[in-house]
Amino acid sequence: MSECLFCQINKGAIPSEKVYDSDGLFAIKDVNPQAPIHLLIIPKKHFSTILEIQEEDHELIGSIYSIANRLAKDNGLDQTGFRVVVNCGKEAGQSVFHIHYHLLGGRPFKWPPG
Ligand code: 5GP
Ligand code: ZN
Repeated sequence: MSECLFCQINKGAIPSEKVYDSDGLFAIKDVNPQAPIHLLIIPKKHFSTILEIQEEDHELIGSIYSIANRLAKDNGLDQTGFRVVVNCGKEAGQSVFHIHYHLLGGRPFKWPPG
């Protein structure tokens, strides 16, 4: 998967603004932010979409929420509210096929989403 954008960012081959790094996960600032705070929480293991998540991955995927909570609190979003969003596939608007959890906050959001 050497051509995958987020695998390359993980390896450091493409630069990014990292805000978190551990054995299994990293988080970066989105290059094209859709809100004042827009971070991407990314498992280091390559999954093209969330459809590839297996039972053995549940601990890793669950830990994404601990990091989302920590990053939300670090940015004061626990006081105001925030979104954690995963796009899966074409009609959802997924553009990078290595799963990532968007953490968005710092402005009001509408529902339903566009
Ligand atoms: P998706 O549309 O797949 O749910 O989200 C992909 C996200 O990755 C988009 O919000 C886009 O701005 C972000 N993105 C695309 N290329 C890069 C990059 O090279 N660096 C960073 N930090 N974010 C990127
Ligand atoms: Zn990848």
